[in-house]
Amino acid sequence: MLSDPLKSPQATREPGTIGSPAPGPPVSAAAPADLRVQLGPQRLHIRWQDGTQSELPLALLRRHCPCAACRTEREAQSATALPVLKKDPSADIRVTGAQLVGRYALQLTWSDGHDTGIFPFTLLRTLCER
Ligand SMILES: [Zn+2]
Repeated sequence: MLSDPLKSPQATREPGTIGSPAPGPPVSAAAPADLRVQLGPQRLHIRWQDGTQSELPLALLRRHCPCAACRTEREAQSATALPVLKKDPSADIRVTGAQLVGRYALQLTWSDGHDTGIFPFTLLRTLCER
């Protein structure tokens, strides 16, 4: 269900849901009070410090992956005359694991082996408010 806290990289190999409530005092208003990655429906549930609850499709996160490789790829795509011919890379790529990076970010591992995307909570909050 939704109750397994994410404590180790091994936990990311388990199917189902990875939950990772952030312990301790909040570092900023953008820090989630609770963060859960659902691997089944591929969604990220966030409860923020201010009580706001958000839900993001993980595919959306892949499209906004902040790592250098993905940014470069997106910039190349936007400069392409016929971007519709390029297959959406997020369509059949799933999240297989997740872990917290310090107190400021979430790192996702994808089924294609991509794991360099680190999503700061501020970026997650921005995506939630779009
Ligand atoms: Zn990336």
